[in-house]
Amino acid sequence: MPNVRTQVGIVGAGPAGLVLSHLLYLRGIDSVVLENRSRQYVEERVRAGVLEQGTVDLLAEMGVGERMKKEGLVHYGIELRFLGRGHPIDFRELTGGKGITIYAQAEVLKDLNDARIATGGQVFFEVEDVSVHDFNTVQPKISYRKDGHAYELACDFIAGCDGFHGTCRPSIPHGVLTEYERVYPFGWLGILAEAPPSSEELVYCYHDHGFALLSMRTPQIGRLYLQCKPDEDIAEWSDDRIWHELQVRLASTGWKLAEGPVLQKGVTGMRSFLVDPMQYGRLFLAGDSAHIVPPTGAKGLNLAVADVQVLARGFDKFYKTGDHTLLDRYSQICLRRIWKVQRFSWWMTSMLHRFPDGTPFDQRRQIAELDYVTSSRAAATSLAENYIGLPMEWD
Ligand SMILES: Cc1cc2nc3c(=O)[nH]c(=O)nc-3n(C[C@H](O)[C@H](O)[C@H](O)COP(=O)(O)OP(=O)(O)OC[C@H]3O[C@@H](n4cnc5c(N)ncnc54)[C@H](O)[C@@H]3O)c2cc1C
Repeated sequence: MPNVRTQVGIVGAGPAGLVLSHLLYLRGIDSVVLENRSRQYVEERVRAGVLEQGTVDLLAEMGVGERMKKEGLVHYGIELRFLGRGHPIDFRELTGGKGITIYAQAEVLKDLNDARIATGGQVFFEVEDVSVHDFNTVQPKISYRKDGHAYELACDFIAGCDGFHGTCRPSIPHGVLTEYERVYPFGWLGILAEAPPSSEELVYCYHDHGFALLSMRTPQIGRLYLQCKPDEDIAEWSDDRIWHELQVRLASTGWKLAEGPVLQKGVTGMRSFLVDPMQYGRLFLAGDSAHIVPPTGAKGLNLAVADVQVLARGFDKFYKTGDHTLLDRYSQICLRRIWKVQRFSWWMTSMLHRFPDGTPFDQRRQIAELDYVTSSRAAATSLAENYIGLPMEWD
C-alpha cells in the first residue's frame, strides 16, 4: 500500500530523484519517489556516461560507488582533433591530478535503485497521471494513479526531478519563471557499438562534415556520435553509412577506428535551457526539469547531482533546526554554477560544430580557437578545469 504522507515527495526516478532520495535517507529524512516509467526502462535508457570527480566522490560517500570504482574507467584527459591531427588536453597535469570517470548513467541508476530498495526506500515505478498541488501552501500534495487506483501523497515539500518534459515545471503559475533558451541547428546521431574504443581518451573532432565524438562505456563497448540535422531520419543511416562517416570525420594519420556491430542508435536534439528561479513555494525543480545543456560538455547528469546536493543540505538544515535560509537560497546557489556550466557547454558546442549558416570566416575562427586551446597552457587549463567540474560554491 503506497504511503499517504512523507516529508519530501519526489517526482522522477532519474539521477536527480534517486540521488536526492538516498541523500535524504542518509540524513534521516523520509521521501517517496514517483516514476511514470518502469524500472527496466529507466535502467536501460542509454544516456550520459561522463562523471565529474565531484559526482564520483558524492556517489562513493553515499555508499553507492563500489561497482563504479571497480568498473568505471578513469580518464585524465581528452583529445581535440582537427585538420586530421590529434592534440591531447592533459587534465592531470593541468588541474593537479584530477580526472573524470566513464560509467554509464544506466549503471549509476541500477546502483541507486539497489541501494534504495536495500534500505527500504519507497520508489514507485509505472505510476500514472502524476500532478502536483498546493505547493504554495505548507501542505503540498501529489496525486497519482497506480494499478488503476487513485492516490494522494501529502508532503512537506515537493522535488520536481522529472526531467525536461515532466509535469512539475509547467505546473508553476505563468509569469513566475523566466526561461532562457537556445536551440542549436543540429543534433547528434549516437551509436552504442560492440567495438573496443580505438583511443585511450575521448576524442572531440572538428571536421568539414561536422563534429564527431569517440567515447566509450566499457573496454568492449564504444559510444560514438556524429553531428547531424536536428530532425535527421535515423532510418536513412545504415550501420555502414554511420561507420563510413565516422571513419571520414575521425581520420588521423597512423590511427585506425575499430568497427563492430551497432547495438543501439538514435538522434538527440541540442539545446541550452534554464529557468530562473528553480523554486516556487514548496516546489523545487532539480536537474533537467530546470535546465538542459548540450551534451558536448558532458554536464547534464553532473548538474542534476549538484542541484540535489544543495537541496538535500537545505532540507537537512530545515528539519534539524527549522532554518529555511538555505532552501530559500537554493536557486541562487545553483544558478550561479549552472550559468558557468551553461557557458562552458555552449562554448564547447560552438567551437566544435559546423553551423549551417557558418561562413568561411567562422570556420577559420573555429580552427584558430582550437589551435589556441591546444597550444596555450592558460586556455587548455580553462577547458580542463571546467571539464573535470567546477567547485560547488555555497555563498
Ligand atoms: C544522448 C545523451 C547523452 C548524454 N550525455 C551526457 C554525459 O555524457 N554527461 C552528462 O552529465 N549528461 C549527459 N546527458 C544528460 C543526462 O542524461 C541528463 O542531464 C540527466 O539524465 C538528468 O537527470 P534528471 O534526473 O534531471 O532527469 P532524467 O534523467 O530525465 O529523469 C527524469 C525522470 O522523471 C521521469 N518522469 C518524467 N515525467 C514524469 C511524470 N510526469 N511523472 C513521473 N515521472 C516522470 C522520467 O521518466 C525520468 O525517469 C546526456 C543526455 C542524452 C540524451
